[in-house]
Amino acid sequence: MVYALLAFLLRCPEHSVPYPWERCYNVMTKVLYYKNIDDGTMVIDLRPRVNLGGGLDHENSMWNQLTGQSSGRQPPFCDYQYDQNSPVIFYTNCLGCLIYIIMPDLVQFCPLCGQFVS
Ligand SMILES: [Zn+2]
Repeated sequence: MVYALLAFLLRCPEHSVPYPWERCYNVMTKVLYYKNIDDGTMVIDLRPRVNLGGGLDHENSMWNQLTGQSSGRQPPFCDYQYDQNSPVIFYTNCLGCLIYIIMPDLVQFCPLCGQFVS
């Protein structure tokens, strides 16, 4: 189900996410995520740039913070590189419920709690 959502995001970034998914944005944490309104599954989108449709892009600074790169200072080819790569899906239940995270690359530490992941 989550993989179907990801496939949709990659194939039709201009469109609203299909039922039962809902795109949400937490203004406080500046985190973009998707919520399954049927079963409550949460998918956090950590791609550095997300196409929101209508010519709007969401610039995600959280990924840069996680990987220790300061935002705005990396050369443009990094963005280009991430745009070309297929994102990966990471999942964790360290916060008490199952949360999926869409990321541009694999990480060694959980983005939510910082624990080492194998
Ligand atoms: Zn964690």
